Amino acid sequence: TQVIKPRIREILSRELPPELVNLLPKHWVRIGDVLIIPLRKELEPYKHRIAEVYAKVLGVKTVLRKGRISGEFRETNYELLYGSDTVTVHVENGIKYKLDVARIMFSPANVKERVRMAKVARPGETVVDMFAGIGHLSLPMAVHGGAKVIAIEKSPYTFKFLVENIELNGVWDRMTAYNIDNRDFPGENIADRVLMGYVVRTHEFIPKALSIAKDGAVIHYHNTVPERLMPEEPFKTFKETAREYGVEAEKLNELVIKRYAPGVWHVVVDIRVFKR
Ligand code: SAM
Repeated sequence: TQVIKPRIREILSRELPPELVNLLPKHWVRIGDVLIIPLRKELEPYKHRIAEVYAKVLGVKTVLRKGRISGEFRETNYELLYGSDTVTVHVENGIKYKLDVARIMFSPANVKERVRMAKVARPGETVVDMFAGIGHLSLPMAVHGGAKVIAIEKSPYTFKFLVENIELNGVWDRMTAYNIDNRDFPGENIADRVLMGYVVRTHEFIPKALSIAKDGAVIHYHNTVPERLMPEEPFKTFKETAREYGVEAEKLNELVIKRYAPGVWHVVVDIRVFKR
C-alpha cells in the first residue's frame, strides 16, 4: 500500500481541509528533475501550493499534472503546476535522455523494454527504428549493443531532442536520424532488426516494416490489444498481413509491457520474417 510522504502530509495538513489530506497523491513519476503527479478534482483550488510542497520535499524544479497522451505523435498534454522549465535530462541505464516532459512521453512502464533492447542488439547489425521518439529504444541499442541504428521520427519537435540525444550520448558514428514519416523512408531489405515501438495503429505500418526488413530479420512489433483477442492477437494480424505480401512470419517471443486502458494491453511480439 502506498502512503503520502510524512513530511508532505505534515505541511499540507496545516493548510488543507482535513477531508482533502487523504486525497493527496501517493505516487508520482520523476523524470530528470521534473515530477508528474496525478491530481484529484477536489484538490484543484490548492493545486499550485500542493505542487510547490511536493517540489520542495522531493527536490525537483518543476511539477506537472498527469494528463492524457494523444494524437499521431503520442504527445503528452500535462498542465504546469509549479516551476517553469519542463525540459530536463533523465538518466536511465547509463543513457542520457533530454526531453520536454510537458510534451513528449517517457513511460516508466516501458523501462524493461528499453533495457531488453540494449541486450538484444548485436554489434554491427543494422537496426531501423520506425518510431524513434527521442531515441527511447534506439539509444540503448547503439550505446550498449553497438548496433548501427537508423532512427526515424516524424514530429519536428521530438526530432530536435533525438538529435541532441545522439550528440549527448556520443553515438553519431553509429546513428543516423531522419525527420520524416517512416512510410517515406526509401531503404528496402536493409535491416537485420526493425523496431515498431508504437501503439493503437501499429498494424497500418506492417507493409513498410516488411519492405525495410532483410530476409531472416527480426521485427519487434508493438501494439495495443483488447484482452478478449489475446493471445492470438497481435501476431495473427501481423502474420496475415505478411502473407498478403508473400512473407512468412514466425513468432519468437511475446511480452506484455503494460496495461494501456481497462481491458486493453500494450504487447510486444518478436517476429522473424522470411521473404524469399
Ligand atoms: N519507440 C519509442 C518507445 O517505444 O518508447 C517511442 C514511442 S512514441 C509513443 C512514438 C513516436 O513515433 C512518437 O515520437 C511519434 O511522433 C512517432 N511517429 C508517429 N508516427 C510516425 C510515422 N509515421 N513516422 C515516423 N515517426 C512517427
